[in-house]
Amino acid sequence: MRIKDVIIIGAGVSGLAAGIYAEQHGLHATILEKNPTVGGLCTGWYRKGHYLDGCIHWLTGTKDGCDLNRMWKNVHAFQCNEDIVHLPSFGTFEYKGIEVPFYSDIDKAEQTWIEISPEDKRQIHRFFNKVRDFMRISSPVTTPVGKMNIFKLLAYGLKVLSVFPSYLMTMKMDNYKYARKFKHPAIRNAIDKIQGGRGNLFQVIYSYAAIASGNGGVPIGGSVKMIENMKDYFLSLGGTIKTNSPVKDVIINDNNVTGVVLENGRIYDCDYLIPACDSFYFLHNILKDRYIKKKFYKNLFNETKNPTPSSTLVFVNFKKDIKKDFIYHFECEPFMVGKQKVTGIHMRDFSYDKTISSKGNSVVLILLNQFQEDYDYWKSLDKNNYRLEKQRVANDVISRIIKRFPELEGNIELLDVSTPITLTRYTNNYKGAYMSFAFTSKNSMYWDSGRIKGLNNVYMASQWMASPGGLPFALATGTWAVQKVCAKENIRYLLGDKPSISLSKKSY
Ligand SMILES: Cc1cc2nc3c(=O)[nH]c(=O)nc-3n(C[C@H](O)[C@H](O)[C@H](O)COP(=O)(O)OP(=O)(O)OC[C@H]3O[C@@H](n4cnc5c(N)ncnc54)[C@H](O)[C@@H]3O)c2cc1C
Repeated sequence: MRIKDVIIIGAGVSGLAAGIYAEQHGLHATILEKNPTVGGLCTGWYRKGHYLDGCIHWLTGTKDGCDLNRMWKNVHAFQCNEDIVHLPSFGTFEYKGIEVPFYSDIDKAEQTWIEISPEDKRQIHRFFNKVRDFMRISSPVTTPVGKMNIFKLLAYGLKVLSVFPSYLMTMKMDNYKYARKFKHPAIRNAIDKIQGGRGNLFQVIYSYAAIASGNGGVPIGGSVKMIENMKDYFLSLGGTIKTNSPVKDVIINDNNVTGVVLENGRIYDCDYLIPACDSFYFLHNILKDRYIKKKFYKNLFNETKNPTPSSTLVFVNFKKDIKKDFIYHFECEPFMVGKQKVTGIHMRDFSYDKTISSKGNSVVLILLNQFQEDYDYWKSLDKNNYRLEKQRVANDVISRIIKRFPELEGNIELLDVSTPITLTRYTNNYKGAYMSFAFTSKNSMYWDSGRIKGLNNVYMASQWMASPGGLPFALATGTWAVQKVCAKENIRYLLGDKPSISLSKKSY
C-alpha cells in the first residue's frame, strides 16, 4: 500500500512532535517551515557572543514515570535525568528588604514563610497544602479528554477527584484577590507577582507544584538544544523538513486538502494536513476564512475574558555576580511598557547551565508581561519610534537594576530587546501570543478538537488547541493530530510510552 503523505505547517514543538509521531506510525511527514531555522517560539540566539534563551523557563514533564515524561523522551527532547537541571526555587520575591522564597523544597519554603509572618501561619499552611495536592496530579496529555475511553476517563477522574475541591477553588480565584488573604505585605506581594499577570491561582499553584515535585526542570543546553534533539530524531526517522518555506494557500478538492502552496508558488501534495502554525494565522491567512471555527474565534476575540500572554524581553549581561537566586524579583519605581505599568523587575539568570553561559558573565533575562493591547500599542509605532521605545524600555530596566544593585554600575551590558511584534514577525503568532488563553477566574479550560467542519483530512495542532498552551500542550496536540490520522488509516496508535517506537512503513 502507498505510504500516506502528511504535510505539517510549522516546525515548532507541535509540528516536530506531529512529524515524529507520524514517522513512527508509518506515515511520511514533510514539515514546511517559514523560517530558516526550526523551533518556532522554542528558540534561542546569540548576541555579542552570548547565548540568549528565548523560551524554556521550566518544562513540565521532566519527572521520570509520568505520561508527559515518556512523551518527551519518545520525541528525544531529552533522554534521562542527567539532561535536566532542577532549579532550587521557583523564584525569590523581595519587598522592602524582605525576601520571600518559593523553594523547590516546599517544607523549607513553608517554614521560611512562617518565620517571615507567624500571624499568617494558618493561611500559609493552606497555601502549601494546595501545592502538595497538585504535586500528585498531571494533565491528561496522551489522549484528548473528549477521546478518552471510559476506563481511561474513570482512571483520570479518580486521580483528579481528590484534588477537585482545590482545583475548583483555585480556578475561580484571582491571584491578586487570594494574595489579600495574607496579612504580611511581602507575602501578599510574592503571591500577587509570581505569575505577573491576569492569571488565576490555579496557574500559580500548578506551576509551583510542577517545580516542587521535580516535574518542572529545564533541559541542559536550553531551548535550542532540545529542539535540535527533536529535529535530528525526526530526520533520522526519515522525515523531511523544508525551511524557508512559508505556506500561503491550500488546494481543496471534494472537502479534502490535497496540497499546499508556498509563497514561491511551489506545491506540495498531501493525503493529510496538520497545520501546526498559529491557528488564527492558518484559518485567516492560509484558509482565508473559507472555513470558520466559531468556538475558537469567539474565545480569541474576547480579549477581556481571555487574555493571551505575550512579552517584551530585555536581555542583559551581568559582569559581576550579585549572589541572588537565579529567579529574583524586586519592586521598583514604576515605568511603562506598552500599556502596562511595571512596578517590579523579574530577572532570570541563566548561569545555572554552564553549557550555555560563559565564565564570569551572567546572561539575565527580564521578562515584562504584555497582552493583546500591548501588541496593538507596539504595532502603532513607526519604525523609528519603535526602535526608540525599545531603547527607552531597556534604559528604564537597566536604571532600576542599578538602583537596586549599585555594584552593577559599569558592569551591565545590554544584549537585546524583543517585543510582541518580534514574536509575531518571527512566528506569525496572533498578537505576539507566546501561550494561548491564560486561565483566569472568568474562563475555563479550552479544548479544541482540531477539526475543521467541511474539511475531512485536516487536523490542527499548536498551543491554541488546549489552553493555556505552552510546550507540553504543543507536544500533546501534535501527537493528538497524528492519533486522528491513525484512526482514519486504521493504524494502531501507540501512545508514545515506549521510547523510540518505530513501525515499519512496509506494514501499511
Ligand atoms: C519568552 C517565552 C518563554 C516561554 N517559556 C515557556 C516555558 O518556560 N515553558 C513552556 O512550557 N512554554 C513556554 N513558552 C511557550 C512555548 O514556547 C509555546 O507555547 C510553544 O513553543 C508553542 O509551540 P507551537 O508549536 O504551538 O507554536 P510555534 O512555536 O509558534 O510554532 C509554529 C511554527 O509555525 C511556523 N509558521 C508560521 N506560519 C507559517 C507558514 N505560513 N508557513 C510555514 N511555517 C509557518 C512558525 O515560524 C513556527 O516555527 C515560552 C514562550 C516564550 C516566547
